[in-house]
Amino acid sequence: MGRDAFPVVFDGHNDVLLRLGVPDGGGPGAFFERGDQGHLDLPRAQEGGFGGGIFAVWVPSPKVPPSERTPRGLPPVLDAAYALRRSMAAIATLFKIEDRSGGKFRVVRTTAELQRCLNEGIMPAVLHLEGADAIDTNLDTLHVLYRAGLRSLGLVWGRPNAFAEGVAVHFQRSPDTGPGLTEAGRRLVRACNDLRIVIDVSHLNEKGFWDVAELTDAPLVASHSNAYALCASTRNLTDPQLEAIAASDGIVGLNFAVNFLREDAAREASTPLEVMVRQIDYLVEKVGIDRVGFGSDFDGVLISQEIGDVSGLPRLMSALRDRGYDDPALRKLAHENWVRVLRKTWGE
Ligand SMILES: [Zn+2]
Repeated sequence: MGRDAFPVVFDGHNDVLLRLGVPDGGGPGAFFERGDQGHLDLPRAQEGGFGGGIFAVWVPSPKVPPSERTPRGLPPVLDAAYALRRSMAAIATLFKIEDRSGGKFRVVRTTAELQRCLNEGIMPAVLHLEGADAIDTNLDTLHVLYRAGLRSLGLVWGRPNAFAEGVAVHFQRSPDTGPGLTEAGRRLVRACNDLRIVIDVSHLNEKGFWDVAELTDAPLVASHSNAYALCASTRNLTDPQLEAIAASDGIVGLNFAVNFLREDAAREASTPLEVMVRQIDYLVEKVGIDRVGFGSDFDGVLISQEIGDVSGLPRLMSALRDRGYDDPALRKLAHENWVRVLRKTWGE
């Protein structure tokens, strides 16, 4: 690695499937063209040293009048058929990208496959559901999606489902916003442990987090959340949560959303990189240099204009190097920690 080269990034969360899947999103073909919309496509990823990542399948909530929101102000539980149909469309987009990539992009199911792709300059993609809304309580869908390649599952997005409840995004409020896991949620955690699917606690409320922490036998993974101590958002992790993640030898992926980074939670594109570096410093102090990675949320959130899109990742790496993170530390943050946690959860 030369002085100017940075280690390849394996990123814990992006929403490119959502961006490509909307009516004017361009579909799978747009992933191969250098765009000026959004954050992530293959040409810009190659410029920025984004080697691969966890690709989220997320189902938007239909617009409903305030009277149909839950008592805690969340969008209502999704219709199961709608959730499944939208999820299938996003998963199909992921596989079409793989099919059209000429071998440059691969949906990976094992750690060995992931590592080989990173070594050979092929982009590894991990199939992730951001919310178990499409999964039935018999868990049949879980088993079928596992066969299709599902290796990571967020129990919730910011709404309730049959398994748990997510947080609404609030500032200067505790993430302890609602009930913990349902009985079906507890069965889902055990089933994920049996299948060795990563359980992602980002978006989960605090009671749900502690239920997962007590039940799971896998490292705790918060794919795209930051430190509550520096930005008091319900989407971030309190110090006791960070301690539990450290004790489980899990990982926190830094979310690039400016409103989850800044002390005032403002949605300001002019947010300096310094704010991201400060969050990394704090997370490293709390959970250790072996348990922090990136969970950019590219194509899902407002990020600093100093990064702009995935092609700007070297500017973050450069800021971290200037702060004193040496090459071994940068390799851990960039990809080694994610690979280790996935290996611990999936096996080889
Ligand atoms: Zn998210």
